[in-house]
Amino acid sequence: MITFYPGPSKVYPQVANYMQEAFEEGVLSINHRSAECMAITKNAIQLLHEKLNIPPDYSIYFVSSATEAWEIIAQSLTSKSSTHFYNGAFGEKWADYSSKIVKTVDRISFAVEEIPSVNLALNAEVEVLCLTQNETSNGTQIRDLSTFRKTFSESIIAVDVTSSLGGIELDWHNGDVWFASVQKCLGLPAGMGIMICSPKALQKAELINDRKYYNSLLFIQENFAKYQTHYTPNVLSIYLLNKVLSDISNISEISRKIKKQAKDWYNFFNDNDKFGLNCLVQNIDIQSDTVIAVQGTTEQIKAIKERTKISGITLGNGYGTWKNTTFRIANFPAIEAFEISKLKEILY
Ligand SMILES: *Cc1c(COP(=O)(O)O)cnc(C)c1O
Repeated sequence: MITFYPGPSKVYPQVANYMQEAFEEGVLSINHRSAECMAITKNAIQLLHEKLNIPPDYSIYFVSSATEAWEIIAQSLTSKSSTHFYNGAFGEKWADYSSKIVKTVDRISFAVEEIPSVNLALNAEVEVLCLTQNETSNGTQIRDLSTFRKTFSESIIAVDVTSSLGGIELDWHNGDVWFASVQKCLGLPAGMGIMICSPKALQKAELINDRKYYNSLLFIQENFAKYQTHYTPNVLSIYLLNKVLSDISNISEISRKIKKQAKDWYNFFNDNDKFGLNCLVQNIDIQSDTVIAVQGTTEQIKAIKERTKISGITLGNGYGTWKNTTFRIANFPAIEAFEISKLKEILY
């Protein structure tokens, strides 16, 4: 079975053996405060720094999901208000989750074909700026965050990179909190999230001093200072992360490959209009590198999904507003060249 679903997505093929190894090595039964477990956690964190070029002064934490990271940001890093820029379902959901916890949630929505402008929030007081770098629902991305960083230099900038972390290179200094879950570009089974915090984010956490919850950021940080977690974690996930990170190239190399593949996908749909299909987003500055959204009529999309299914290929369904008129193709690193060729052959 071949899957292009953008999450949960294809896991790296070697995960099969690593799961077996974890079982045989007894990793599945180790105590989460043991030296052995701490070593696995420490190693995974070091590898994340090394392979994803995360600055040494940024701290890394494991949580349960990206959704949990939304809540941690609202609980532990926001005193009064957060400002959410979004053009799709995940950005909107984040604002919804925040609004249950945070007093004031400002929503700044923009059109799918639009590059979000900092001007939209210039007169607002921005305490925590929430950006969805890669909007998985419609295949768009905010390519450059530097204007946000420059304009909102005093604010905490939180960035959802759930469907881009591990796929493309990110400029860490443009954000204070970055988070993702492992079932997308990292090619692992679902069930774990990764949070990356700048020193400024931790200062803000100290200022707010939230210690009310099991997942209050400061409590998480105290545990991770010992390479431990704030609850009994899924050690298998951490073990697999370790193994897969050891295997992969540095993100700069992966990023080059993913961006080239993305360009090839966009050219493919622009050059082959015999199905009447086109890219949902035409503006190349906002087309996502990791999630390709393709648009057609409801009948066309249905027919293509049926055709690929017969060949054992799963495409990503459209999401939200675009449920019936788009399909999505994950352009994640675990997907292999032969799988892409096979899909292109069927689509021709
Ligand atoms: C998948 C996804 C999420 C949610 O991830 P969970 O692991 O289900 O919490 C959040 N944001 C974006 C952009 C996503 O693609």
